Amino acid sequence: VKNSLLQTDPITILPFGDISDEVINHIAAIVGRKFERRVAVNPRTPLPPGPYNSARGQYNGSLLLKDLRGIRDGSSGKLLAVIDVDIFSPGFNFVFGQAILDGCCGVISLTRLREGIDEPGGEARFYSRVEKEAVHELGHIFGLRHCSTPKCVMYFSSNLADTDRKSADFCEECGVMNAA
Ligand SMILES: [Zn+2]
Ligand SMILES: [Zn+2]
Repeated sequence: VKNSLLQTDPITILPFGDISDEVINHIAAIVGRKFERRVAVNPRTPLPPGPYNSARGQYNGSLLLKDLRGIRDGSSGKLLAVIDVDIFSPGFNFVFGQAILDGCCGVISLTRLREGIDEPGGEARFYSRVEKEAVHELGHIFGLRHCSTPKCVMYFSSNLADTDRKSADFCEECGVMNAA
């Protein structure tokens, strides 16, 4: 998949598989504001079968990132894929997302973020989680590491409680790096 938007737009959101426009547009609006960059949305692209691990019933995040690097192929933009399958990463049973530090690409998974979506306030909470995880992975792409401040968006979420506790904002320290 080649898309001319990748050549000119600093952040591209890629719906990988059947992701709703509402979610994609929400992410695009949020990250455009947070990172003060133009955001392009690529057409939906079918999930590649290669990174699927049938024994685990999950996608291998590292292999997905490799595919994303190929899709981005030489453009200078940053690419964030959004998928709706569970991802694992070596050493972790699952991850909410994965990215190449100071690199080209990242991915977030909606699957686990949806937990409790039918509860009162569940949909707003789902969108808030999506927002935090998208900003978090883009933070990595722009060179930020994990932060020890639980409220900071760069805090590592090992479960949904971590995600729900943190904000969608960078702490002062991470924000300074982000602005650089
Ligand atoms: Zn992280
Ligand atoms: Zn921080």
